[in-house]
Amino acid sequence: MTTAYLDSGMNKVLTSTQPPRQRKPDWIRVKAPVSKGYQNTRKLMRELGLNTVCEEAACPNIGECWTRKHATVMILGDVCTRACAFCNVKTGMPRAVDPLEPEHVAMAAAELGLEHIVVTSVDRDDLPDGGAGHFVKVIEALRRTTPATTIEILTPDFRGKMRAAVEAIVAAGPDVYNHNLETVPRLYPTIRPGARYYASLRLLEEVKAHDPAIFTKSGIMLGLGEERLEVHQVMDDMRSADVDFLTMGQYLQPTPKHASVIEFVTPAAFDAYGAIARAKGFLQVASSPLTRSSYHAGDDFRQMRAAREARLARGA
Ligand code: SF4
Repeated sequence: MTTAYLDSGMNKVLTSTQPPRQRKPDWIRVKAPVSKGYQNTRKLMRELGLNTVCEEAACPNIGECWTRKHATVMILGDVCTRACAFCNVKTGMPRAVDPLEPEHVAMAAAELGLEHIVVTSVDRDDLPDGGAGHFVKVIEALRRTTPATTIEILTPDFRGKMRAAVEAIVAAGPDVYNHNLETVPRLYPTIRPGARYYASLRLLEEVKAHDPAIFTKSGIMLGLGEERLEVHQVMDDMRSADVDFLTMGQYLQPTPKHASVIEFVTPAAFDAYGAIARAKGFLQVASSPLTRSSYHAGDDFRQMRAAREARLARGA
């Protein structure tokens, strides 16, 4: 079958196979993780039996983040019920939920002395509540054990049970609710086939409907073949849903079986997207090749909170 793709000069190329694997540009290369801080964070996660998206998603920032004791915990197991074309997490039939996991997450936050924690999960379409109740237990355990830690959750779309799931999680009182749109709607059938773009947007709206004071956050990956105007449209859609914080980062192909990188977006292009997003009214924007949902999440949260306070003061 003939397919078309854009090369790095944005020229359309016809091919009978997948686009060739592109060499990573210099701006995407990172140092191998070797520091003592990295080893300590790794040891703690192993001891507590916790999974992290940092490892499961083969995140390029793991050396930097774990050295600074920033790890994004992935709850509800390490097997996902979806099979997205961009994601490195295992797919299949998940195991039973670990009832000790909420306490272990709280112990990790305490041991690492975290001011801000990001908690995400695999999709659990097999569970009656999609795993929402387990998110609530994790938030409650964190509030008990480390009440000063601000909590950011990054949830799946809870397909078919979104309303009840969002209501329960928002009632538990996380500081930031993140749900990623991942890519532009045109690419959903190939990149995120188990999800629906407008259902994810509705989830973000629903969060704000339950608690207008909560911070909402969403992100997309660039380099999957999206067009510039499609990215602008996603920004407008997010602003319509009153999303506060937009993250944009370069998609990296975890293995040759995953979706190909169509383009390595330059740092200058990321800066330009970031400027447009700020002009569209997001409180906070992170846009760079190595940006990930949870990259520098604590610092960004503090900046976002300050930006909201400043905006409210201007309006008062
Ligand atoms: S950017 Fe997020 S997922 Fe990647 S290593 Fe840092 S905390 Fe983990």
